[in-house]
Amino acid sequence: LLEIEEMSKKDRLRLKRIKEAHFEEHKMIEEFDFGFQNNISQSKILDLATLSFLDKHENIIFIGPPGVGKSHISTGLGMKACEEGRSVLFVNAIELMDYLSKCLEKGTLRQQFKRLYKVDLLIIDDLGYLKMDKEKESIFFQLIRQRYEKKSLIITTNLPFNRWDEVFTNELAAAAVLDRLLHHAHIISISGDSYRVNKKHEEVLND
Ligand code: ADP
Ligand code: MG
Repeated sequence: LLEIEEMSKKDRLRLKRIKEAHFEEHKMIEEFDFGFQNNISQSKILDLATLSFLDKHENIIFIGPPGVGKSHISTGLGMKACEEGRSVLFVNAIELMDYLSKCLEKGTLRQQFKRLYKVDLLIIDDLGYLKMDKEKESIFFQLIRQRYEKKSLIITTNLPFNRWDEVFTNELAAAAVLDRLLHHAHIISISGDSYRVNKKHEEVLND
């Protein structure tokens, strides 16, 4: 009985962490078809799924076009982290930066930074579709600096590094962010076809 109680307590905690992570979809690494996206190293992803990157406070950057599985794998790693008792937060880059700049206006940014720092794994999804102004750029830089060598980040983006200046106000600002971000980072470039588009084609062909 004790064992069952222990188990359900663990399950409850796990579910609480998953809820608090605010994943957009509950995708698992086990559901990822490495046969379809065979330009991703399965062994590399499975190695990341051991979560040793979290203990080493390393970052992961997924780069690739839409639909190749960047958010899926990031979420899968986040779900693993929840299972292992880590706190996770999954946020869309535009929403995060809008929110933080509102916090700056309201005078609650410090408080928010404290909250964010408590999160073991921060997943910033789709950095690349926003254009930061000076204010957002400064907030983003503080965030990166705060986590540097202390906490892990996963960032997904459609932009290769030589185009990150499109997100920031200038090349120098992009370089300053990249310098810290990439110092201890796993960079996973995914090319290939969109899984969504491919599935649609299959459906149409089968009709
Ligand atoms: P991205 O973030 O790169 O735009 P997503 O991770 O959102 O792409 O993938 C788009 C959709 O296709 C999701 O529902 C995802 O689960 C699914 N998907 C993508 N690649 C694969 C794959 N190789 N195996 C299984 N599902 C996949
Ligand atoms: Mg995505």
